[in-house]
Amino acid sequence: MQSRFEACGFLVDVDGTLVSGGKALPEARQFLSDLHDRFVLVSNDAEHTPSELAHKLQSLQLPVPAERIVLAGTTAIDEVAVERPGARVMLLASASLQAYARQAGLRIVKDKAEVVVLGRDRHFSYDKLATAANVIRGGATLVVANPDLMHPAPQAAVVPETGALLAALLACAGRVPYRVVGKPEPTLFTAALALLGTPPEATVMIGDNPATDGEGARRLGIGYIEVHDGRLLHVVSADKRAESMEPAAYMASPP
Ligand SMILES: [Mg+2]
Repeated sequence: MQSRFEACGFLVDVDGTLVSGGKALPEARQFLSDLHDRFVLVSNDAEHTPSELAHKLQSLQLPVPAERIVLAGTTAIDEVAVERPGARVMLLASASLQAYARQAGLRIVKDKAEVVVLGRDRHFSYDKLATAANVIRGGATLVVANPDLMHPAPQAAVVPETGALLAALLACAGRVPYRVVGKPEPTLFTAALALLGTPPEATVMIGDNPATDGEGARRLGIGYIEVHDGRLLHVVSADKRAESMEPAAYMASPP
C-alpha cells in the first residue's frame, strides 16, 4: 500500500521549517531529498525573488530550483501584472522586486500611482509613507505582500516585517480596503497548487506557524502538518505510520 507521504504533493514553508537563523536545519536536506520533485516552497518572503532564494538555499546545501519557489512579494507583483497590465505602481520593496516588476511590464512610479504594492522595504521612509498614504486616500489600490508584523531574531530581538509597514500606512490612510497576498490568505496557496499540479485534498502544507501555514491550509482544504524544532524527518515517519488515515486526519483543528 502506498503511503500518503508517497501519494501527495507538498507545500513547504521555508523560515522555521527548512532554515533558521540563516542556517539550514539539520534534517532539511534529507527531507527535501525524500520529497523528490513533489514539493513547492511557499514563503511570505516579501523581499527576494525566487532566483535569489534558490541561490541562498543552494549556499546552504539545499538545492531547490527557482521554478519550485512561490514567494509573497513576487506573487503580489504577478497578480497586479495580470489584473492591471502596464499599471502605474508605487512599489515599496527591494531593488530586486523593483526589477522583477519592470520585467512584468509594470510602470514603477513615485507619484500618481494607480496601485501601491507593499513589501518588505528596508528603505521605507517618512516621504514614502506620506506619498503612499495620500495616493491610497485618493483611490489607488493597496496590495500587501504579507501581514506579518515581525520575525524573531537572536537574543530576543525582532526584525520588522511588511505588516509593520502596513500598520504605519493604515494609521495614516485610515480605513481603506486592501488585499493581502501572503499566507494565510489564499492567493499564495493557489499559486503554489497550480505550480505543484495537485488538488487541495491531495496536498499537505508543512510549516511551523499554525496562524499562517495552518490557517491558510485549512481555508482551502489542504492538509497541514506542523513542524516543531525542525524535526522534519519525524514528519516522514509520522506520515508512514498514518498511511491508512483519511485526509481529515491531517487537517489543522478549527479555531
Ligand atoms: Mg515559518
